[in-house]
Amino acid sequence: DSTRELLLSRIRDVTDYPKPGVMFKDITPLLADPKAFTVLTDALAELAVRHGATKIVGLEARGFILAAPVAVRSGIGFIPVRKAGKLPGATLSQTYDLEYGSAEMEVHAEDLREGDRVIVIDDVLATGGTAEASVELVRRAGAEVVAVAVLLELGFLDGRARLEPHLRGVPLEALIKV
Ligand code: IMP
Repeated sequence: DSTRELLLSRIRDVTDYPKPGVMFKDITPLLADPKAFTVLTDALAELAVRHGATKIVGLEARGFILAAPVAVRSGIGFIPVRKAGKLPGATLSQTYDLEYGSAEMEVHAEDLREGDRVIVIDDVLATGGTAEASVELVRRAGAEVVAVAVLLELGFLDGRARLEPHLRGVPLEALIKV
């Protein structure tokens, strides 16, 4: 539809980034276009409300850029999931595998609790490893994941198939799939 066309038209392909052979999807043209950014924010806020979310979890770093205006628009609190070592309070952490090596993400333990209904927001779903780790982290904090939402799903990387066993019926919402 027209939303999808507008959003897709504002995502730029960058070849050989961050290394040779990789095609990077660059969302900065979308962020620079207030009409497209508003359409994106509204679409994600609609998902958050439709799934009855009570907390919006955004993933560092590009997930923050999307999730923060969605939180304001929907009137739902924003909870940052950060790379290890950035949050000052008591945290829960989750390690996950990258293509080479591993990484660790953290959330403030007191930001999520039983009864919270969380929508996890990120920009791009690639292999699904980041989303999988965030789902585990939110659940370990005692909260329920009600949806995972991304702007763009890279279908050829099969992240959805990797994620699905962990989602246990929780919807993975992608505004665009390529
Ligand atoms: P995954 O863990 O392999 O699914 O990678 C997803 C994470 O890497 C997300 O947090 C994205 O921000 C980032 N990412 C992977 N590929 C791209 C891309 O082509 N464009 C922008 N971000 C990407």
